[in-house]
Amino acid sequence: MPEMPEVQAHVERMTDALAGATLERFQLINFAGLKTFDPPADAAVGTKLLAVERRAKYLLLRFENDLTHVVHLMQGGRLRPDPKQSKKPRNGIARWVFTDVPDDGVPAWLLTEAGTERKAGVWAVRGDVEAQPPLEGLAPEADQLSRDELAAILARQSRRLHGVLRTQSVVSGLGRMLANEILFEAGISPFANAAKLTDDEVDRLHASIGSVVAAATDHERTLDDIGKSVDRPSKVHNRAGEPCLGMADEPCGGSCDDTIRTVEYRKYTVYYCPSRQTGGKVLADNTTSKFLK
Ligand SMILES: [Zn+2]
Repeated sequence: MPEMPEVQAHVERMTDALAGATLERFQLINFAGLKTFDPPADAAVGTKLLAVERRAKYLLLRFENDLTHVVHLMQGGRLRPDPKQSKKPRNGIARWVFTDVPDDGVPAWLLTEAGTERKAGVWAVRGDVEAQPPLEGLAPEADQLSRDELAAILARQSRRLHGVLRTQSVVSGLGRMLANEILFEAGISPFANAAKLTDDEVDRLHASIGSVVAAATDHERTLDDIGKSVDRPSKVHNRAGEPCLGMADEPCGGSCDDTIRTVEYRKYTVYYCPSRQTGGKVLADNTTSKFLK
């Protein structure tokens, strides 16, 4: 799933490609893809696109008339230039057609969703987007929290840290891959109780959220589109069974000759280095855990 770095780089691409554009047409291709009915999404037709922004993992197309199209890509969604504008695009959900796009820009953008989840979609929202679904209740951006704000948030979450980091009402913008990478970087167990971290662990977690998100965003900015998670640089994510890339001068101390381990859940996998993150302990990977969040 695209997380905050991928969505951030993408809204920057869209901002460049659509500066000064006006919405000429909004075409709903799959009706299940529009998650709201009032205001109508095509109330934005004829108005200027003021900005393309990001909030957590959502893209925001902000139009005049105080109307915003909020887009979530979920697992397999993509929003791409659509030079062909075919009548029945494969996996198509919705299409935006603009006029007055910059020179050599593509006027149409198509939202598609591959796979079977059918959850990607568009919300048309008038007014304060933060106070209405789907953004209502979203926590602050993970990488915008001060160290003490992060500490205060974690103190209220007496459960496994990996799940806490992925809970958008607690901290927003992070998903499975970033949670794996951040915890590795910080040298903290994915099963650590978030409310019981030491001051030193909170320091390391705060620093690694910042550095991992920044590095991932820098990488995404070098690409032309949101890629696949298997192609994103990682130190533990998607590296089960591979030698750990831990360095001698990093928090776990000492060079690492361990192997990346996993805890398998029904819909995702937790990756970690035992030497670096759990004091060498291999985390339980029993059948019961497949049914927990
Ligand atoms: Zn290691």
